[in-house]
Amino acid sequence: MKIHEYQARELLAQFNIPVPPAQVADSPDTAADAYDKLAVNGASLAVVKAQVHAGGRGKAGGVKLVRSTTEARDAAQTILSKPLVTHQTGPQGVVVRKLLVAAGVDIAREYYLGLAVDRASGRPVLIASSQGGVEIETVAADNPQAIFREPVSPTTGLQPFQARKVAFRLGFLGKQVSQAARIMIQLADLFLKTDASLAEINPLIVTPATDEHPDGQVLAIDAKLNFDDNALARHPDLAQLADPDEQDPAEARAKQYGLSYIKLDGAIGCLVNGAGLAMATMDLIKLHGQEPANFLDVGGSASEQAVTEAFRIILADANVTGVLVNIFGGIAKCDIIANAIVAAAREVGFKVPLVIRLEGTHVELAREIIEKAKPSLPTLQISTDLTDAAQKITAAVA
Ligand code: ADP
Ligand code: MG
Repeated sequence: MKIHEYQARELLAQFNIPVPPAQVADSPDTAADAYDKLAVNGASLAVVKAQVHAGGRGKAGGVKLVRSTTEARDAAQTILSKPLVTHQTGPQGVVVRKLLVAAGVDIAREYYLGLAVDRASGRPVLIASSQGGVEIETVAADNPQAIFREPVSPTTGLQPFQARKVAFRLGFLGKQVSQAARIMIQLADLFLKTDASLAEINPLIVTPATDEHPDGQVLAIDAKLNFDDNALARHPDLAQLADPDEQDPAEARAKQYGLSYIKLDGAIGCLVNGAGLAMATMDLIKLHGQEPANFLDVGGSASEQAVTEAFRIILADANVTGVLVNIFGGIAKCDIIANAIVAAAREVGFKVPLVIRLEGTHVELAREIIEKAKPSLPTLQISTDLTDAAQKITAAVA
């Protein structure tokens, strides 16, 4: 589960990681008010930031520096007026509904700090770089030696000696070392305690030297947190931070019915049981020259109602020019799928080619159900095995 930057900053603050003060706004006027409130302490620089579940906002015009109430209002107006297209959103972009107005800071240097799960070692890893601000993927590709990795114990967290070692490697000096090390330890603590799958500060910055802070201050000015969906039951407070506006509506509907559905860009709608079989089905569709329109695992204990909903979701996708049903009935029963096919035919109608491959539990019963319903399934083709199914559906839509 992803959350917004403004929510992530609050969590950072709870874990004593310093972040500049900020306010949430949802219109040019509230952004102007937020600017005025931040400017009370004499600061004139602020930043207006689009709150969307996608990175790369800065380069895409979703982060604007402002120096007056009017500039804050104009920046908010501009950002809210059109979908934000970043390298992570796809060409259609995402609608911006909320803004963050944050106090501006002078930046001497930008760093990257992140925690993720390292699948190879099966434990969390701290990832750090002095090449912050830009996308870490670019740094990893162009300049891999600029990225430091430090394993984190899932039970005892990041140790102070590890954090100091990374801080020195990043080139922090004087009092910056203990500030940066403390932030790393706190971020690791947050990562472990919230069952996060990703915790990123990009950039972590150092401010220029001043009389008050001769070594500068280390601050987090952007934050990204993702949580493990499977651990959300342990964190009802975090689960509440989900923003339904940022979810794909079809994926949200599927989730309600216990279906694992992910929309893709191809033309063949797939209805499959079991994640492995779903992956194999997608591979076969590709092998025979087409692209899947979705990944869909209806699961083992799918009810007729849930499977009917799955057909509704697939058939509502305008890109779908054919549907492949591939069920190996184990715990899932073929007759339930057959009844759902009939219900979907009655309700929505299969105007596009439909290829069915059914095997396993209650397959005889399923065949009878389908046989009886044939008049309402004019585009139906029954297939004998997986390859035959993939060939039939790709030929039917070609
Ligand atoms: P994104 O990662 O989506 O591009 P960031 O919050 O990292 O968004 O902002 C992009 C850049 O904007 C930062 O690298 C930094 O240079 C600048 N910036 C962001 N927040 C501030 C701030 N509070 N004060 C000054 N500059 C900022
Ligand atoms: Mg950033």
